[in-house]
Amino acid sequence: MQQYQNLIQNEEEKKSIYRNIFLNVNEAFLLKFNEAKRPLSCSKCRRENCTPPKNPTEKLHKDCIYRFWQEHCLNKLEKEISKSIYEKIQEINALKNKYHCNRCAACCKLASSEFSYEELKQKAQKGDIFAKQFTSIFIPYKNKEDARPFYPEFFDLLESKYKNNDKIYFYYCPKLSKDNLCTDYENRPDICRDFPSNPLVIFPKDCGYRKWQDEVDVLALTLHAMIKITEFYKTKIAEALQD
Ligand code: SF4
Ligand code: SF4
Repeated sequence: MQQYQNLIQNEEEKKSIYRNIFLNVNEAFLLKFNEAKRPLSCSKCRRENCTPPKNPTEKLHKDCIYRFWQEHCLNKLEKEISKSIYEKIQEINALKNKYHCNRCAACCKLASSEFSYEELKQKAQKGDIFAKQFTSIFIPYKNKEDARPFYPEFFDLLESKYKNNDKIYFYYCPKLSKDNLCTDYENRPDICRDFPSNPLVIFPKDCGYRKWQDEVDVLALTLHAMIKITEFYKTKIAEALQD
């Protein structure tokens, strides 16, 4: 992955890098799965005219010896690989501590979401913690024209990302003072305390965490791919193991 370091300039480039990372991570997973298969050999039960599976997501008959392999892969995904994902999250978070907020207040004045306020309220009612906290502080701008003047450059950047998908809503927090200070700092929710929690979102140009983003973007993309691939194999192997 080192060859990608510091190369990410724009969204298109990021997508292309992510595709390569995703393929590499998937290949590494399959390699690990196949290494784990080697000690086993077909017991030649000949229940069906079959050949040993190439992928642990294949549906096998219930006496096939390779079902042990599938269980092993599932176990590996649930324990070892999940642990390594957790460690990568910790690594990314630890690196954030090197950087600091510049107090530009963009994240308080121009928060955005792919969900409307009503949708977020519904999610909050269903127990979504992020949506609960978000709707407890943020208020939607009446329209996009009202939102833009607060940070035109950042607004345009966000809009351009969603240009093919029109679904972006802008919000502001009324607890921000005219001097760009939080008037309820001690009681601010975790989403404010932890911001930014995801280095893959779009940051305003002046955000003090941009350098953190530059430092961890490849690691964060790798982590994202690992999470997606892990979820995929966990679901598919569990389905294949069902009788
Ligand atoms: S509660 Fe404070 S930190 Fe959080 S968005 Fe509002 S002004 Fe910003
Ligand atoms: S956008 Fe970044 S620098 Fe600006 S207030 Fe938020 S965390 Fe701080």
